[in-house]
Amino acid sequence: MERTALFPGSFDPFTLGHKAVVDMGLTMFDRIVVGVGVNAAKQGLLTPERRGELIEAVFGGESRIEVALYGGLTGDYCRSRGIRHILRGLRNSTDFEYEHDMEMANDQIYPEITTVALFTPADYIPVSSRLVREIITMGGDPAKFLPSGIDIKEYL
Ligand code: ADP
Repeated sequence: MERTALFPGSFDPFTLGHKAVVDMGLTMFDRIVVGVGVNAAKQGLLTPERRGELIEAVFGGESRIEVALYGGLTGDYCRSRGIRHILRGLRNSTDFEYEHDMEMANDQIYPEITTVALFTPADYIPVSSRLVREIITMGGDPAKFLPSGIDIKEYL
């Protein structure tokens, strides 16, 4: 049976840290669906559609990666697609506390879904979407935190 994981997130924007999680995930799953969660109440830097296009550009041609936009609860989306694994990344104890709370909540609601959390390589611990957004807001160049070949100006 094919093993598929959903890697859910805001991805505003998708960073080198997110790519590291996907690359590690590909060593254990056959397919990864990178799911851009659409939250109409939260205005982001990039529109959800642009976030998806950026992720497509990063993995263009990789048949094991699918990019999807979804609304509503992550567990409901997994169930609707028959996906039984959620992939997440851990940088530090703050991520751990948050991810553990989410995992426990999801487990109460959707016991059939297992969350797999992977430690990020040390080089990417300081990388976050928020850092990238702040650099852009201040007029700087965030390229070193983004997957190679991505020019963020094309997605703003
Ligand atoms: P969310 O808003 O759901 O937290 P994010 O887009 O910020 O979405 O992050 C998605 C996932 O990627 C989360 O599990 C987060 O902890 C993880 N992540 C973010 N940045 C990094 C990084 N530099 N290294 C490893 N994991 C990361």
